[in-house]
This record gives sequence, C-alpha cells and structure tokens, in this order.
Amino acid sequence: TSRRDVRNPVQDYLERIVAACGGTAGEVAAYIPELAAADPDVFALALATVDGHVYSVGDADLRYSIQSISKPFTYALALDDLGVAEVDAHIDVEPSGEGFNQISLAADTGRPRNPMINAGAITAASLVAGEGPDEQFERIRRWYSSYADHDLALDEDIHRSELATAHRNRAIAHMLREFDMLGDDPEAALDLYVRQCSLSVDTRDLALMAATLANGGVNPRSGRRVSQVECVERVLSVMATCGMYDAAGDWISAVGMPAKSGVSGGIIAVLPGQVGLAVFSPRLDVHGNSARGVTVMERMSRDMEMHLMHVG
Ligand code: GLU
Repeated sequence: TSRRDVRNPVQDYLERIVAACGGTAGEVAAYIPELAAADPDVFALALATVDGHVYSVGDADLRYSIQSISKPFTYALALDDLGVAEVDAHIDVEPSGEGFNQISLAADTGRPRNPMINAGAITAASLVAGEGPDEQFERIRRWYSSYADHDLALDEDIHRSELATAHRNRAIAHMLREFDMLGDDPEAALDLYVRQCSLSVDTRDLALMAATLANGGVNPRSGRRVSQVECVERVLSVMATCGMYDAAGDWISAVGMPAKSGVSGGIIAVLPGQVGLAVFSPRLDVHGNSARGVTVMERMSRDMEMHLMHVG
C-alpha cells in the first residue's frame, strides 16, 4: 500500500457515522427570517482532542451563526470577570424544563433560572465587563475567538434579521430590567445578546471550542489558557443539566455528556479530559435540537462509550 492508502481510523469512523446516521426528519428554524433561508441538507461533524488533533467530515468549513451555543461561553466570561458568587447572585443554575425563550424568572427574586435559557443568557451578556456595549461585544468576540483559536466575525445579516424580529427577547430584557437584573439599558443588553448569537463559526471552530472546555480551559491548539478550571467546571455542570432546551433530561440519559445546542442546527458536546465534538445539521426536532445531530451524538456516545455515567 502506498502512504496515501493508510487511512486514519478516527477519520474512517467519522465517515462511517455520517453514512449510517442519515435522515431528513425535522424542520429548519423559521422564526428568524435569515435562518429560514438555510439549506436544510448540509451536514458536518468534527472531533477535536485535548492534544490538538481536529478531525472533520462533511461541510466542515461551512459558516453559520453560533446562536445559543454562545451561551456557555458568555457565561464563562461573566464568571471569569466577576467570580462565581457575584454571577450566582444574578443567575440561578436550576433547569427550567421550559422552552429556551420562556419569560422564566424566579417569582421571588426575579433571577433567571439558568444561563442556558434566554433570560439567563441576556443577563450573562449584560454582566460582561466593558465600557458600554461595543467594548463588551468586542470582549465577547475575542473570548470566543480564543476558544476557537480563530478570529470570529459578526454575521451582519443575521444580526439585523434577528434584532428586527426579537419581540420576545425584547420583552424578556425589559422584564429583567424591571427586576434589576440588568444595567439600566435593556435595549443595549438585548442587542449585545443578539450580536453574540450572530457570531459566525464553522463546525471545526465549535469542536475546538468544546475541546477547550474538555481541556480544562486551555486551548489545545494555541496552548493558551482561556478560562480558569473552576469556571469551566461550573460551565460544564450547567451544560449537563440545562444545555439541551427542554430535552436536557433525555439527552443526559441517552448521550451522557455536557452539551449545548443552537437553533441554527449545531450541537457541541464535551467529554471532560478527552474530546470536544461538534455536529451541524439545520433540521430541528420538536425541542429545537438538530434532529440528525442528536442521532449522530447518541450513536457516537454508544460506540465509543463516552456516556459519563457508563459503568462498564
Ligand atoms: N438568538 C436566538 C434567540 O434567542 C438563539 C436561540 C437558540 O439558538 O436557542 O432567539
């Protein structure tokens, strides 16, 4: 055999998974006009190891808006800026069991239930340090870029399209302002959150962002520490309990890894100490999770015994 015929086993495995887990179930998200225009049949899968290898198959260089996969990373930045206790005073860590866009605040304190639903995510964005929203956004953009080891950019069309139709998120931001959970300007907090959701990534970026979490906050490619270990542990805990919309319980039972999904069709999953996974397929199931993405992750978790509660 020539050198070219020596196949990498991980690459071979990923290609087999993609072939085995097809499917056209689900619908592309339609509530943001720009997202409704996505090609439903694109697909990508990537795996990044904590020693810095990145494998990918499918449309792995295709770019799309990060959407709710941004939430754990902005939460990580708020934790890094303010410390756990101060962030906890503003955002709880209790699964809500409700849809991501519910106006879900604790009745007594007005604290959002967790940072993975919109109420908590808008609050987390507003807590990020910076002189005004532009500086806060630039810090968020650079922070994600350090996680991805790649300079990420805003998708202006998505930002405009989402901001024009963000009626529910606008209501949530004003409600948070009423309970004194944000600064004075709910519109600025909303815009900051929508900008973070509109940052453009590809599936390899997401796998590396997940691998940086798996690696305790050190980016496996650059070798740079992005987050402190205690913050990463907190972020992973909240991803495990709240990361998959109102299917978080199904997910942790079937797949068994901290994860986060987004309405553009991405899912990241983290096997602590080992790998970060990312999958992209825009057709969503009834919970808003990528339908084919969930199938692929369930299969990989089983095949490679990645379920954290696996006991042999
Ligand atoms: N920007 C989206 C929203 O808040 C994110 C939704 C998501 O990915 O869950 O409506």
